Amino acid sequence: MSSHWGPFSRLLEAFHDQETLGHRVAKVLSALPPEVQDDFLEDPRFRISKVGREVPSSHGTVLALPTPDGQCSRCVVLKQRLASCSESFGLYVIAHELAHAYLRNGSWGEYQDPEEAADELARQWGFPRPRRFF
Ligand SMILES: [Zn+2]
Repeated sequence: MSSHWGPFSRLLEAFHDQETLGHRVAKVLSALPPEVQDDFLEDPRFRISKVGREVPSSHGTVLALPTPDGQCSRCVVLKQRLASCSESFGLYVIAHELAHAYLRNGSWGEYQDPEEAADELARQWGFPRPRRFF
């Protein structure tokens, strides 16, 4: 088990066999404000996982997965493709999905649209939507 991700090791357990993506997620997590890091670290229902290449979709998605034990009610699921795309796009998508998780898929301040809210919060964290995606 990787332990080189410091305080985020528990959150990054799913990436022990996908280090490139794990490093990208760790890079975003490290850049977050302390209160956001604490929110994720202190919530046992918060998880970050990855899905295989075969799943068709545009990018990662925040899923509220209803599991029998109710343990995974606040999950970020990331596409492996985020390891091979350009770093700026990968970091942006990861930050955008983490922003959704932080906002519980809700609005943020004046940003009522959850997508706009996630983009704006990601931008404030230092990961703006890149002009060119790949
Ligand atoms: Zn979104």
